[in-house]
Amino acid sequence: MTARILDGTKLAAEIREEVASDVKTLGAAGIRPGLAVVLVGHNPASEVYVRGKVKSSREVGLYSELHSPAETASTEEVLALIESLNRRDEIDGILVQLPLPPQVDSKRVLLAVDPAKDVDGFHPMNVGYLSTQRPGLVPCTPAGVMEILRRSAIPVAGQEAVVVGRSDIVGKPVAMLLLNQNATVTVCHSKTRDLPGVCRRADILVAAIGRAGMVTRDFVKPGATVIDVGINKVTERAQFDRLFAGNAKRLETFLSRGSTLVGDVHPEVAEVAGAITPVPGGVGPLTIAMLMANTVKAAKLRRGASTSPC
Ligand code: NAP
Repeated sequence: MTARILDGTKLAAEIREEVASDVKTLGAAGIRPGLAVVLVGHNPASEVYVRGKVKSSREVGLYSELHSPAETASTEEVLALIESLNRRDEIDGILVQLPLPPQVDSKRVLLAVDPAKDVDGFHPMNVGYLSTQRPGLVPCTPAGVMEILRRSAIPVAGQEAVVVGRSDIVGKPVAMLLLNQNATVTVCHSKTRDLPGVCRRADILVAAIGRAGMVTRDFVKPGATVIDVGINKVTERAQFDRLFAGNAKRLETFLSRGSTLVGDVHPEVAEVAGAITPVPGGVGPLTIAMLMANTVKAAKLRRGASTSPC
């Protein structure tokens, strides 16, 4: 069997179009949703992500602005910026790009973001809304995972779902969203016994681990849906060969760039799974699309519109 490829790039484009149309409708009512992105210092990877987020916002018609406090900024300075963004009515979403420099207290900063503008969905208030199924803002990558399943017509209710990873930003919220949609959910982590055996129970297997190609074919029940959240950079030839032996095209790119991106799922899983997300081009593109969608959702929620529960 060769798995159906769940094309995240295509689904993300669909979502962006829907967001752009929503933004137009809101515009006709005199509302232009606004996103403020806060990038402290000069982390090169963060700079790339933030550029992507600002560019995407403009493409869908959102108002956006970038705030870049210096690398040496104190917690108090970042808090003062967040407070000023909380107070401004034209700002619907505030995104603080992580990681923050070590002298800045990330927990205090994230807690300071007005939950109604918390488009990353990390504030404990939004975490509570998610676990009690109230309307709120849901973290973008987990929301993207659910959109992939929904838009690919993969049933969730009653299915066995296994999530590997229990981070606050991916594993736990994905597990909660799957549970809210009536899957029977198991959450695995580094202390789980017989991980391959537990994963083989899954009709839907979500890998959010951060280990290149760790999920091999013996983790996967034939025909299962496999969602690969991992993004790992492979630079060593031996590791490349373990993952991509015989893939001439990928080798050419690897040799010219000196690295390649790979998920947490070994490419051989595509021979066993029923459906699978590729890396790159799977979950990744959905994350930014869901940030756009969350900004519009925040604009509506702040103005009292009703949206569906998490
Ligand atoms: P994280 O905070 O490091 O969490 C990793 C989780 O995996 C932890 O719960 C850990 O267990 C578990 N784990 C680690 N090694 C394991 C092992 N050998 N067996 C079983 N479980 C193991 O990572 P994260 O932030 O959730 O991110 C996970 C991956 O998703 C990363 O590759 C990241 O780059 C990627 N990611 C992608 C997107 C996207 O847009 N596509 C967004 C966010 C993250 P313990 O809790 O026991 O330590």
